[in-house]
Amino acid sequence: MPPQVNRSTHPRRRSFLFAALTLAVSGMARAALPPQLILFHGRVLTVDAQDSIAEALAIRDGKIVAIGTDRDILRLADATTRRIDLQGRTATPGLIDSHAHIADAGVEELYHVHLSDVSTIGEVVRRVQAGIAGLKPGEWLQGDGWDEGKLAERRYVTASDLDRVSPNNPVWLMHTTGHYGVANSAALRLAKISQASKDPPAGTIDRDAQGRPSGVLKEAAKDAVLDLIPPPTAQQQRDGILKSIDDLHREGMTAVKDPAIGQPVWDAYRELLREGKLSEHICVLWYAGATLASAQTALASIQAQPRPPQSLGDGRLLSCGAKIFMDGSGGARTAWVTEEWHKNSTDIDHGNFGYPSTDPQVYRQMVRLFHRAGVHVGTHAIGDRAIDWVVDTYAQVLEETPTSGLRHSIIHANIPSDHAIKSMADLEKRYDAAYPEAQAPFMWWIGDTYAGNFGPQRSLRLVPLNTFLKSGVRWGGGSDYSVTPLPARYGLWASVERETLKGTFGAHPFGTAESVDIHTALRSYTAWGARQLFLEDRIGSLEIGKEADIAVWDRDMYSIPAQELRNLKCTMTLLRGEVVFDSNHP
Ligand SMILES: [Zn+2]
Repeated sequence: MPPQVNRSTHPRRRSFLFAALTLAVSGMARAALPPQLILFHGRVLTVDAQDSIAEALAIRDGKIVAIGTDRDILRLADATTRRIDLQGRTATPGLIDSHAHIADAGVEELYHVHLSDVSTIGEVVRRVQAGIAGLKPGEWLQGDGWDEGKLAERRYVTASDLDRVSPNNPVWLMHTTGHYGVANSAALRLAKISQASKDPPAGTIDRDAQGRPSGVLKEAAKDAVLDLIPPPTAQQQRDGILKSIDDLHREGMTAVKDPAIGQPVWDAYRELLREGKLSEHICVLWYAGATLASAQTALASIQAQPRPPQSLGDGRLLSCGAKIFMDGSGGARTAWVTEEWHKNSTDIDHGNFGYPSTDPQVYRQMVRLFHRAGVHVGTHAIGDRAIDWVVDTYAQVLEETPTSGLRHSIIHANIPSDHAIKSMADLEKRYDAAYPEAQAPFMWWIGDTYAGNFGPQRSLRLVPLNTFLKSGVRWGGGSDYSVTPLPARYGLWASVERETLKGTFGAHPFGTAESVDIHTALRSYTAWGARQLFLEDRIGSLEIGKEADIAVWDRDMYSIPAQELRNLKCTMTLLRGEVVFDSNHP
């Protein structure tokens, strides 16, 4: 066993501590084997319990064997040791995203029409037209990433916009939130959606003034179209994952929780692991559907795999648990809230309180099923009513069957009530459960849409990181990629700055009272994130005995102005001591 850092050591004793540790380790290392790699002349932000800063660290067999001053660490090297001079640059633990759909989003990146950067409906139509040109008659065209909050017209894309360029090929363009999208008329016809169609349970067919479907389908209403689109091939799935892993390495990101997967994605991960190509820590949640029967199917898949923290590939692939949706989206105004949704900030969307996407009683039975089986549950909950129901459900099943360490999570937790926050703090303490997995970048990337929908009062309570912190609630940071862009540096920045992309309703409709500082933001993307992936004994901080997952940055995130955090440039990424990205040899 490697020596452990004494967690109670006072920060003022830091340098003494490092010296003492290094001596202890150097004695051990000389007796045993020299480090294979040393990083030195850096500013190493360890994110240990004391937030210590070191200059250098030594690695052997993928693990950190010593950390401290240049002098003490360089002394450990022998002729076989590779040395990397950080030239004063900053190193952090590899960043961890507690919620990113990397498998699906990789396929979108490679094979779909990209709409996340368009600013007019005309541009959406032009890109669809260009995409159609390469298709055979009748083939589907898929696009992703549009957001009415980024469009000059500030309205939804509609079927009639698309029919002009694609009268025959069915088209589906998913909104950036993934909770709604627009179909053209050819797609609506295939899905048998007409003026006579009724809204399905937990879904909305958007309609024009005459009651005709506009093409926009929200939540369960989009399934009629999605069920018709051919799934990606096994090869596309693999390529999508590899594309995402490459993108993660370029951003200093070494671990991800991929939520809501099914068997084909799991099989692709397994295959890449077998081939030695899964150079990332990945923890997945299996999509559990919205019925008890679908939950039982997911449970069978979960029970066929090792239970976390056990893993496949020595910590590379974990089957972490189950994912359930409690409500919809703050973009579609389908999330389940206690006060009516707004429109354009101050208008009221009369009578619209959103809705649960799973029957609340059925949801409770599903959670009980997983909890009793000892399985971690992550529940998507955006609105305050949904979050209350989720947290109360966790409290109930934990009282019924007390189990510590399952880390049930509230995915997004956008607008929790005071009751919910208090309950999260209590359940974290008593049961190691009820952690928010929060996305600060929502306030930026879809912040203009969000500010309009939540309205001026409620917006101030969105993503309440500072209240979490003061209440003793720890959370995992994340992007929800491809809802927002992948790089975690945007999340670090948004946790501090809380600024929208366009400023349609002002640059700071969410205020700054709920900001946290970069030290806390970094912890939510490292040590706290590791916990939500059941990997806290392996990764999340740079300490002796932990795996050498390391990101090197062009500047020191602890001392630059917070506005610059989003422009951080990753110059090198190591996974278990192997360089997986180097900006000098990209
Ligand atoms: Zn998600």
